[in-house]
Amino acid sequence: MPDPSLLSLNTATVRKQWSLPDIIDGCVRHGIGRICPWRDQVAAAGLNASAQRIRDSGLALSGYCRGGMFPAPDRAARHAAIDDNRHAVDEALVLGAPCLILVVGGLPRDPDGKIASKDLAGAREMVRDGIGELLEYARTAGMPLAIEPLHPMYAADRACVNTMAHANDLCDELGAGLGIAVDVYHVWWDPNLAHEIERAGGATPSRLFAYHICDWLVPTTDLLLDRGMMGDGVIDLPLIRSWMEAAGYRGAHEVEIFSANNWWKRDPDEVLATCKARHAERS
Ligand code: ZN
Repeated sequence: MPDPSLLSLNTATVRKQWSLPDIIDGCVRHGIGRICPWRDQVAAAGLNASAQRIRDSGLALSGYCRGGMFPAPDRAARHAAIDDNRHAVDEALVLGAPCLILVVGGLPRDPDGKIASKDLAGAREMVRDGIGELLEYARTAGMPLAIEPLHPMYAADRACVNTMAHANDLCDELGAGLGIAVDVYHVWWDPNLAHEIERAGGATPSRLFAYHICDWLVPTTDLLLDRGMMGDGVIDLPLIRSWMEAAGYRGAHEVEIFSANNWWKRDPDEVLATCKARHAERS
């Protein structure tokens, strides 16, 4: 059974029902000791007020969501993305986060949101260059960056880093201060997953910065907003956790569930109680 104190709530899991202050109070009430907040929720509640409330509540952070989105069709827009990411690093420091999660971005888009290019290899170069540039700032600030490889179905619109191998390769190339957020929803299908987790954990220092859990439902009815609660789908969560632990990971188990038609419609106290029970029994 996983250590209950490692349970963390990614605040997107009850974002439709509760504001960040409500979520902090809810976690305290349910004995969940860690959270990973999102930038928009922090902005809505105020950065300093949120940091103070988190400190006063005794909660620890398991990460801060999120930076990234590096590719853009021109130099000015790429610079603007880096600037925004520097702000995200600053916020993560104020909040006391252990790392900033990066969803790196897909194909570049015009200002109106239309995909501007089919050059996927070029987008991946922009991601590498963008992370490299941000990393100089983040290293000086002392904020680790965690690349979250996303399922390949998001390669066009959210992240063109789609495998643990690609994330590990970027860490090899770009060096200290960069690691990986392993989200089971995105990587459970990968035949090389065990090997790449071992590779990330075997690096010096370890690159295993975060571990996100939920489940893959069959059928999945929405590519983004139909994630399952642990135990309701097909991911062998105890097996993947055993790989993380064998690779030396001792950090949080962060529940991250986007679920427009199920969990976002339920009583948030029921959602938190279920997260706790399923973490103990099915993760
Ligand atoms: Zn995640």
